[in-house]
This record gives sequence, structure tokens and C-alpha cells, in this order.
Amino acid sequence: MMINEMNQEECRAFLASASLGRLGCSLDNQPYVVPIYFVYELDYIYVLSTFGQKTDWMRANPQVCLEVDEITTQSQWVSVIANGRYQELPEPQFTAEREHARALLGKRYRWWQNALAERELRLGNDSITSLFFRLHIDSTTGLRAIGEPAERDEKRG
Ligand SMILES: Cc1cc2nc3c(=O)[nH]c(=O)nc-3n(C[C@H](O)[C@H](O)[C@H](O)COP(=O)(O)OP(=O)(O)OC[C@H]3O[C@@H](n4cnc5c(N)ncnc54)[C@H](O)[C@@H]3O)c2cc1C
Repeated sequence: MMINEMNQEECRAFLASASLGRLGCSLDNQPYVVPIYFVYELDYIYVLSTFGQKTDWMRANPQVCLEVDEITTQSQWVSVIANGRYQELPEPQFTAEREHARALLGKRYRWWQNALAERELRLGNDSITSLFFRLHIDSTTGLRAIGEPAERDEKRG
């Protein structure tokens, strides 16, 4: 198996093709990771979110990361980490950005479902408030593992 580093362009192309990632934030030396759906565009990652621990923590410490991967087999996978800064998109200052986030996320079928369904399940009602936020990407790193042909054949066999 060979593991190659991905350049910035490859990392960003991968982010553009993906929709599910693990958002990592931290507070007082305690990390916190949750799965989220997102859309990547240029220097930003857009998310529809509910309020809760992750938003409280990112408000307090906006330095965050997002890990995204595609694991085909044990020896064939891609993993990208984007490091960046949290920014909420409240009305009315960010109306245009919110609409843009909604338009990007809205291209995906039932894009709001996971964010809102989790909260509905916990709170048992449908009066859930949500927000849009984005992460401004400061840096990315990526690794791609490519299995040797024999290894791949072995996996298939
Ligand atoms: C496939 C998938 C996609 C999702 N997409 C989105 C999305 O786009 N936007 C969005 O806002 N949410 C999404 N969620 C839900 C998300 O992962 C969080 O569960 C949710 O946002 C609540 O996070 P919170 O910090 O606000 O929770 P809080 O209710 O404040 O958390 C309280 C406690 O509950 C526990 N907890 C919370 N979430 C999880 C979890 N996922 N797994 C285990 N324990 C948990 C933690 O221990 C935490 O301390 C998605 C979940 C899945 C599985």
C-alpha cells in the first residue's frame, strides 16, 4: 500500500465532492467531534446547524477543523482535514451569505433532515431553531492510500 500526500488543489477537489464530515471543536482542553453535512465552496464550508454544545463551544473557541474521508477498502482511502475558523451567519448582517448557503445546501435532497431530525428526536417537538454557519478554511492536509494491484485483487477475491 502506498500513502501519498495530497496537494491543496486535490484536497479542495475532494471536499467539493463530499457531503459528510466530522466537525472537531474544543473547549478547556476537551475535544468534541460530531458528524455534519456540509457544502464546500472556495474558501468556505457551509453548514445548517441546530444550537447546542457544538455552537456554544465554537462561539467560545472559533478554531475548528473538519475531517472528511472516503474509505473504499482498508488499503484504498482518502482522508482530508480542513483547519479553519467558525463564523455564524445571522440575519440581517449576513442575509446574502445565508441565502447562498441555503442555495448550496439545498441542491441536496432533504438537506435539512439530519440537523433537524436529531433535535426533534431529543426535544420531541418541531419548534426547533436553526442557524447557518460557515468555516473559513485556513489550511488543508490530505492523504490518499492506494493499494497495490495484488492487494486490491486479494481484497476482491
Ligand atoms: C449523518 C449525520 C449527519 C448530520 N448532519 C448534521 C448537520 O448537518 N447539522 C447539524 O447541526 N447536525 C447534524 N447531525 C447531528 C449532529 O451530529 C449532532 O448530533 C447535533 O448537531 C447535536 O450536536 P450538539 O453539540 O448541538 O448537541 P447537544 O444536544 O448540545 O449535545 C449534548 C450531548 O449529546 C451528545 N451528542 C450530541 N450529538 C451527538 C452525536 N452525533 N453522537 C453522539 N453523541 C452526541 C454529546 O455527548 C453532547 O455532549 C448529523 C448527524 C448525523 C449522524
